[in-house]
Amino acid sequence: MLVTSNMIKSMAMTTDALQERPNAQVLIIGAGINGIATFRDLALQGVDVAIVDRGDYVSGASAASSHMIHGGIRYLENGEFRLVKESVAERNGLLKIAPHYVKPLKTTVPIFSTFSGVLSAPLRFLTHKQGKPQERGALLIKLGLSLYDSFSRDGGSVPRHEFRGAKKSLEQLPRLNPDLKYTATYYDASMHDPERLALDVLRDGLDAGEHARSANYVEAIGMDADGVRLRDTVTGEEFSFTADVVVNTSGPWTDLTNASLGEPSTFMGGTKGSHIVLDSPELLAATGGREIFFEHSDGRIVLIYPLKGRVLVGTTDLEHDMTQPIRSTEEEVDYFFELIAHVFPEVVVDRSAIVYRFAGVRPLPRHDDEAPGFVSRDYRIEARPLGARPGTLLSLVGGKWTTFRALGEHLSGEILTLLGMPRVVSTAGLAIGGGRDFPVTDAAHRVWLASHGDEVGTQRAAQLLARYGTRATDVIEFLVEEPDAPLANNHDYTRREIEYLADTEAVVHLVDVLLRRTSMAFVGGLSGALLDELADVVAPVLGWSASRRAAEVDAAIAELRDAHGVTLAAASVLPVP
Ligand SMILES: Cc1cc2nc3c(=O)[nH]c(=O)nc-3n(C[C@H](O)[C@H](O)[C@H](O)COP(=O)(O)OP(=O)(O)OC[C@H]3O[C@@H](n4cnc5c(N)ncnc54)[C@H](O)[C@@H]3O)c2cc1C
Repeated sequence: MLVTSNMIKSMAMTTDALQERPNAQVLIIGAGINGIATFRDLALQGVDVAIVDRGDYVSGASAASSHMIHGGIRYLENGEFRLVKESVAERNGLLKIAPHYVKPLKTTVPIFSTFSGVLSAPLRFLTHKQGKPQERGALLIKLGLSLYDSFSRDGGSVPRHEFRGAKKSLEQLPRLNPDLKYTATYYDASMHDPERLALDVLRDGLDAGEHARSANYVEAIGMDADGVRLRDTVTGEEFSFTADVVVNTSGPWTDLTNASLGEPSTFMGGTKGSHIVLDSPELLAATGGREIFFEHSDGRIVLIYPLKGRVLVGTTDLEHDMTQPIRSTEEEVDYFFELIAHVFPEVVVDRSAIVYRFAGVRPLPRHDDEAPGFVSRDYRIEARPLGARPGTLLSLVGGKWTTFRALGEHLSGEILTLLGMPRVVSTAGLAIGGGRDFPVTDAAHRVWLASHGDEVGTQRAAQLLARYGTRATDVIEFLVEEPDAPLANNHDYTRREIEYLADTEAVVHLVDVLLRRTSMAFVGGLSGALLDELADVVAPVLGWSASRRAAEVDAAIAELRDAHGVTLAAASVLPVP
């Protein structure tokens, strides 16, 4: 078998790589997008850095987002100008450095009132007194969008917002509620594959740093005389790991991680948000390919938008106890259907169209008396000594998906200061993973397909380019080494492709393939037969015994059911051979 650089690098993605040399200058606890972005930045500076996550990479809050890379127009209302400025700069930057996963998103706000929110919002901004959120009226939205234009147009490359009356709005989007008074339309960005984008960022870090190492399914469980105590959650094996700087990027679990390290904190106050994914061609058509973004009468932000041929609907903003599982509830689902009926009253859609659900907790700072919707979305870094040991414990509080690159640079900058090391590279403008040399124009796209289509066919090459960016070259190299065929139970993927993912992308559990290496669960249509087929492909690559293989199928079924509302027909699950 051809040994690719990806495979060599995948060896740095194991628990063994940490155990063989249980020390580094920096240990990052938590491989959500913010931990991973910090890892990449540090590795690029030549820092000896390791990152661990007790679950899969990007399986926490980073797997629960609304998939928006957005400037945060509504943060203007809270007076968070620094954050909006950084967010729009990052949005514009990501469209260029990650064009394979981050695309412009036309966003339309239906407006039902002219004035509401106008009086309360400036008052809130000026006095920092938190009134109850109210539906934002046309004047307020117009004001906000004009301000947003001034922040966000990237030298004119992002179009100015447009305001339309009811008649013109309904001409464009005829299924919208005819009671609306106006629509406002502007551009943000969407990331259709956040999990894959994060893996690209991680891979960049591993490729850049000779000493950079990472391991998923490794939990930080305490601190002892030799360092941070880590446990491999698959084997149960424990070992100690020393570092000069320990960085806690465990998102909404940051306080719990600090407590387990013997450094209790009360930094966090995350709120839960849920989403549903609907397979409804009628609703999909009604959106006209845009995100419909609006505010419910109670002030909560709502989005309905097309993604991967499905419609994503979210989200809620509810207090959550982080010691409890994070699940979307039936009340939240009821609420989503009320919203859809409010915006598209004639579209017929119900629970039978739900193919997938997900929920997560936003890693927000503690907010004693503020309404959840108005808690600051900005981030900060808290520093403390590392218990009785020499060294520093840094905790990240907050941090959205949109700002991950800037946050990684900022956090890495603090760490470089602690280590007395200079910054040698900036990540601003540095292409991410399969975004490198990505063909953005039609002509460049055709050239890329022409040079790769011979090996796998033009259509397949286009599918792989859309899925992996220019990293598709490595995938194709692997695919053509041996005969390949589409999966019998999902014609969108081939056996060799799944083998490639299992071999090079640190798959530990079957569910990793379904939820985060592919979009299979997100788009729906999973069957027991597919899970069995996937297990058959993955088992030999990862050396699973028959009993491990069976346990992986059972665990995947349970997680899909409990966390994502996906049920599979038991009868379709084939018996273990
Ligand atoms: C409903 C919702 C919608 C959102 N929508 C958007 C959006 O559209 N756009 C946007 O920009 N942002 C959005 N966000 C915010 C964004 O998703 C998060 O702020 C961001 O993903 C946080 O990333 P993180 O790396 O800090 O945390 P996480 O992704 O939560 O990562 C923390 C990691 O730490 C690990 N961990 C915890 N404890 C330990 C331990 N003891 N040892 C090892 N590992 C540990 C966890 O397993 C987890 O993987 C949304 C968030 C939610 C919940």
